[in-house]
Amino acid sequence: MIIVYQADEHRYDTMLYRNLGTSGLKVSAIALGFWHNFGDTTPLSNQKKLVFDAFDRGITYFDLANNYGPEPGAAEKNFGKIFHDHLTSYRDEMVISSKAGYTMWPGPYGDWGSRKYLIASLDQSLKRMGLDYVDIFYHHRPDPNTPMEETARALDQIVRDGKALYVGISNYSADQTKQMAALLKDLGTPFIVHQPRYNMFDRWIEDGLTDVLEDEGVGAVVFSPLAQGRLTDRYLHGIPEDSRANRSDSPFLSKDRVEPTIRIAQQLNEVAQQRGQSLAQMALAWNLRQKAVSSVIVGASRTAQLDDNIQALQHLDFTAAELANIDRILNGAEFK
Ligand code: NDP
Repeated sequence: MIIVYQADEHRYDTMLYRNLGTSGLKVSAIALGFWHNFGDTTPLSNQKKLVFDAFDRGITYFDLANNYGPEPGAAEKNFGKIFHDHLTSYRDEMVISSKAGYTMWPGPYGDWGSRKYLIASLDQSLKRMGLDYVDIFYHHRPDPNTPMEETARALDQIVRDGKALYVGISNYSADQTKQMAALLKDLGTPFIVHQPRYNMFDRWIEDGLTDVLEDEGVGAVVFSPLAQGRLTDRYLHGIPEDSRANRSDSPFLSKDRVEPTIRIAQQLNEVAQQRGQSLAQMALAWNLRQKAVSSVIVGASRTAQLDDNIQALQHLDFTAAELANIDRILNGAEFK
């Protein structure tokens, strides 16, 4: 059956849009990530539902990478299919990103941060998605064995060749970010975004990175804001059959990592309930309280989760007492 998709005319009514740092590019405060649930093991019909629901609710930022699958490359290929079948007329309303930096193909040229890898990988990504350009291209992780100048020049070249409008980096430390920002500034490259992990269980960016980003005028778009589901009601009463922690194709979240966090999540859930929010909504609002954070990239296995997450925007403020209460609960945590 052919589905004709027509975007909701009210899609921009309730979403919040924030500039990435001092750049002119605004992104939706909630973004959709393609790391899980867009590979070849998820029915395309479910993927479509997620993408349409996201876009209908004002999500404009779609976060991909060369290696998202399974198999690596599958998420870009599937996104490309959905895009071409239904979304081409909305291309100028979308911010689509990709990344390279992790293992993508065998041998010395399919990984890390060389000019050879980055340029070849983006060419492959564009082909898989059937796009002429991405809005943002990220270097996915720092490479200790490639001079940062080389990576910077490759990113710059990619923009000059018209294959990306802006560039970003991901998983770089505060110092590495400072160095990269200086190199890209010299080259005149539009470096506007950093993508670090940030959530209540992992607050490393507060130790220097947010300061660097504010100084440099670069925005943060943070990944795993819900700690892969541990900061939602998913695991409050155990580990459901159909959850990420129980799936064999998600090696980065095991039952062993979930169990020690359940008690903390239950305590945080009480604070969320007092605020009239779900735990997921409070966790996202808590991330967005940071000035440096422009957007949170959520994953979702079903549209109800996306709908829940978007409601976070209805209540972003925290009282000092709520923040102190959350800190107290997190400081008492013995899960690290
Ligand atoms: P989250 O922390 O948002 O976790 C998503 C998972 O949490 C979902 O798959 C779902 O689990 C569960 N969930 C989400 N919302 C709800 C809700 N309202 N109620 C209950 N459960 C919910 O993010 P991800 O870890 O998926 O990362 C998000 C994106 O960040 C990725 O897709 C990717 O784009 C990016 N990323 C970037 C990285 C980098 O190195 N730059 C690394 C990792 C991610 P379930 O599947 O069990 O239903």
